[in-house]
Amino acid sequence: MAMKTVLNLRNQLEKFANSRKLSFTSNKLAPIKYAERNNSGTLLKVEFTDDKANEYPSSFLQDNCTCPQCFHPSSLSRTRKMTQLNLQNVLEKVEFNLNQVKCTWGDGHEGVFTENWLFDRRFTTDNINYLKTGLRDDPILVESSHKLHTANFNQVLNDKSVLNDTLMTLCKVGVVLIQDGPLEVGGLRKLVDKIGFIRQTHYGHEFTVKSEKNAANLAYTSIHLCVHTDLPYYVYPPGVQLLHCIKQFVGDGGRSHLVDGFLVADKMLQAYPKEFKTLCKVPLEFSDVGKDFIEFNKVHHSPTFVLEPRTGKVTRIVYSNQQLSSYQPIPIDQVDEVYHALKVFTDLCYDPKNLIQFKLNDGEMLVFDNWRYLHGREGFDPSAGDRHLEGCYVDWDEIFSRIRILQEKS
Ligand SMILES: [Zn+2]
Repeated sequence: MAMKTVLNLRNQLEKFANSRKLSFTSNKLAPIKYAERNNSGTLLKVEFTDDKANEYPSSFLQDNCTCPQCFHPSSLSRTRKMTQLNLQNVLEKVEFNLNQVKCTWGDGHEGVFTENWLFDRRFTTDNINYLKTGLRDDPILVESSHKLHTANFNQVLNDKSVLNDTLMTLCKVGVVLIQDGPLEVGGLRKLVDKIGFIRQTHYGHEFTVKSEKNAANLAYTSIHLCVHTDLPYYVYPPGVQLLHCIKQFVGDGGRSHLVDGFLVADKMLQAYPKEFKTLCKVPLEFSDVGKDFIEFNKVHHSPTFVLEPRTGKVTRIVYSNQQLSSYQPIPIDQVDEVYHALKVFTDLCYDPKNLIQFKLNDGEMLVFDNWRYLHGREGFDPSAGDRHLEGCYVDWDEIFSRIRILQEKS
């Protein structure tokens, strides 16, 4: 990859990290210059020293009052009930000093709001855009020429800033290769303990990927695996997958395949808008029936491209050719349209410009966004040697939460 592209990726990541310090209180001091209510008492108006007028509805302040009657301090939760909210109970008096505003409502209730509390909750366009930006928004799209971001296993475990960078890269780029991990099982658990906890599925907590007879999943054979997202038959498919290579197969074959589904969806939107729309609209049935960690019978319907209502963009790819059910809840005249769109999508996934191919080395862990990347592997000859991978999942909720904690304490 060209140096310029590397720098751009780094700049984008740094810009993002700096723009999104997540904390309960602002680090900036925003002394209050002026505060008053409007004539009808429905609004509080506050001017900070940046000379910009900010308005806060009385209803919002009433609902967010942090007095002991309204707010439970140790759980940081509202105790005031929505049924207690009285929209006719408007602001009667507003007093302020540099650091706080005291509001008195018509019923005599008093609430105090600090400068930082008010500043962080401004209803300005910039602040609203900042607040509604998700950690996985604005992804950096990845073609096959992209060199995988790497991190050292021990550093990720022991250095919180490396853990933060690794998780932020996972959010924005969607894939990280963690190197120099152990050559035995248990490494994944150590890594996930630093983030949160393993997302259990019907394949257990950690699952072992070895070639088996009578395998419950095609992954547990030596047959090639078409690129797919994992567990498309779950209503809540796991957000992130971790694969630890304990022993790589020596010889030809067995290479891993990885493709950025957001990149391919974006290319489809540009070049094949009709097919893109089909994959956004038509829910397909995925299923998995059998016995592994427990007996299971999972069925779920999902469009291939799931759109995020907040952004209108693709937020999740749900596709596995091997788990696509033979029961499909679609009208007969839509069948060919769907297959055509799926073929366009899959052919683009296997386009050498998009398909990342590599062989994991012993001790390496591939961590990737299972809502974004499709993964697969070439077939291999199981008689030529062992191949042993351990895998597990973590949900995005745990990763977002860990990032917030890491950034709050930095
Ligand atoms: Zn109160």
